[in-house]
Amino acid sequence: MVDFKVIREQFPILDQEVHGHPLVYLDSAATSQKPQCVIDTEADFYRTINAGVHRGAHELAARSTMAFEDARAKVARLVGANAEEGQEEVVVTGGATAGLNLLATAFGNASLGRGGEAAKRFALKPGDEIVVSKAEHHSVLLPFQELAYRTGATLKWFDLTEDGRVRSDTADEVITERTRVVAVTHVGNTTGAITDIAPIVRRAHEVGAVFILDACQSVPHLKVDFHAMDVDFAAWSAHKMYGPTGVGFLYGKRELLEALPPANFGGSMVELAWMDQPAQYMEPPARFEAGTQPVAQVVAAGVAAEWMMGIGLENIEAHERTIAAELLKLGDIDGVRILGPRENVDRIGTVAFDVAGVHPHDVGQFIDAQGIAIRVGHHCAQPVHRHFGLYASNRASSGVYNSVDDAAALVEAVAKVRPFFK
Ligand code: PLP
Repeated sequence: MVDFKVIREQFPILDQEVHGHPLVYLDSAATSQKPQCVIDTEADFYRTINAGVHRGAHELAARSTMAFEDARAKVARLVGANAEEGQEEVVVTGGATAGLNLLATAFGNASLGRGGEAAKRFALKPGDEIVVSKAEHHSVLLPFQELAYRTGATLKWFDLTEDGRVRSDTADEVITERTRVVAVTHVGNTTGAITDIAPIVRRAHEVGAVFILDACQSVPHLKVDFHAMDVDFAAWSAHKMYGPTGVGFLYGKRELLEALPPANFGGSMVELAWMDQPAQYMEPPARFEAGTQPVAQVVAAGVAAEWMMGIGLENIEAHERTIAAELLKLGDIDGVRILGPRENVDRIGTVAFDVAGVHPHDVGQFIDAQGIAIRVGHHCAQPVHRHFGLYASNRASSGVYNSVDDAAALVEAVAKVRPFFK
């Protein structure tokens, strides 16, 4: 039995009052708070082994390189990826957005003929199709929309059910023989809905397309295994999984990473550089990690991954399901509409809602005055808001440190919103 009260005590930031009330943090979909072990790791790194990795013959460089690669292995274990030397499948990025842009840029480079024969599988031309969904965060939609503009490919998308689920049942029609790339969210950052990706992955592979998963909102909350899911690439951020900001990860099947041309160029990713000949790039993951990496943050992200595995992803999932159940009571309040599935099935504890007649910013301020932090706005997902006929909404989202009482406090506060603004 995991004692989630003890887990909460590991988050120093939560032990404070906001506007005279104990802080209730329900904005983990934006960014999660950090346990003491993650905070300590980052500080300890600078106190003890700070040095550039993969270069330098001195002892600190060797220790920091070891810590960096050890963190990569821990993160790989969290998502079921390979970590053995020479077979690594996890690339360090600046975050999910950076990872998705890396892919879109690399595919664009392949479309220009870069990367040779092996990279042709990523090349796009006019008439080819890129498929996303209406539930995407702008970090998926925009890089792949730009890729379509650059290559002349056509952008297509999965529609959503009335309650905001990606219509996986239409995979056979949406994905055609002309589809080369499919990029879909695992969990909607507004709806909290878990996408049934299996039919989409199967169809993408049937037509020879590459399948990319936005795993930003799943890795922190669910047990994922990218090998078992058969995804080709997946991107996510450390700061949403109890790790530091400024760092994220890109998973790629090893054979695909080996075939993918680089997207960023510079130091630490090249074997041989000449003035008058093309450079010879390193093998993955180094090929995709140009420049000095956020080493302290990666090491701390490795500790975050280990810490999550220590609690057990099944336990995290079960705990957050109890919070989701309480948050879903928001839908019972007169004038409150949930933007996402109402049942507590195939969803996480991210619940966006609209309060009839009250602007989300007013709702957010009213809630904040009671010490409760939620997100307001379009959550970088405008198409999904349009789907619900809105421009913005309120969003509560859980983390391991939340209790059912936190969710109940929000429900109680939201019940007072319309009477207050009447
Ligand atoms: N995808 C989803 C589903 C997200 O929720 C987010 C962050 O809000 C992102 C992508 C982008 O993540 P980041 O801003 O950390 O790069």
